[in-house]
Amino acid sequence: MTIIQKIDKILEDNSNFDFKLVAVSKTKPNELIKEAYEGGQRIFGENKPQELWGKEAELPKDIEWHMIGHLQTNKVKFIAPFVTLIHGVDSLKLLKEINKQAAKIGRVIECLFQIHIGKEDTKFGFTYNETRTLIASEEFASLKNINVIGLMGMATNTEDDDLVREEFKVLKTFFEELKPQQTRNLAMVELSMGMSGDYKIALEEGSTMIRVGSSIFGGRG
Ligand SMILES: *Cc1c(COP(=O)(O)O)cnc(C)c1O
Repeated sequence: MTIIQKIDKILEDNSNFDFKLVAVSKTKPNELIKEAYEGGQRIFGENKPQELWGKEAELPKDIEWHMIGHLQTNKVKFIAPFVTLIHGVDSLKLLKEINKQAAKIGRVIECLFQIHIGKEDTKFGFTYNETRTLIASEEFASLKNINVIGLMGMATNTEDDDLVREEFKVLKTFFEELKPQQTRNLAMVELSMGMSGDYKIALEEGSTMIRVGSSIFGGRG
């Protein structure tokens, strides 16, 4: 199947769900991104700020670029001018830096809080309680150049579908808990969960945004 056929199949097979597809193009050349773009795909996800910056400069301007991986504070400036959504906000320090860089250029940057849901120690993210405390703080309320529009989570990398489903379920429950707490810079609209190996389960559990790389562009070697 071509890249376009793979994308169309993901969209068609799951057309009973309302979701956005982030085509994860990290490590893949611009030619492959253009191929997907010509088939109508507009949202692409990258996890390295410099790579993202380089691709943005060369590819069509109506692409929505999402930063999906762990983001170091000193790299925020590379992507602040154009990034559409930052999925992996996992510390107040990072959120403040995004706010600062956005303020410099007069933007409001949309972000998702990454929540730690998997079993691996190495995965980044806030705990539920850290998130509750942060959004109730005056410091959070004072950040005028960010807009937190939802949550992102990565399930444990396992064959155990029941565990993955349970992790997504808990994240969805937390998303629903936060929904009523809408403020000027917080609104629970997007729930980013699901990758090539688990997006079907994620959609069944309420994902609004799936981040799919290898099932579209092939493995990354
Ligand atoms: C690489 C990556 C993906 C896509 O992974 P695939 O298994 O190739 O679909 C999704 N989310 C994040 C945060 C990633 O880094």
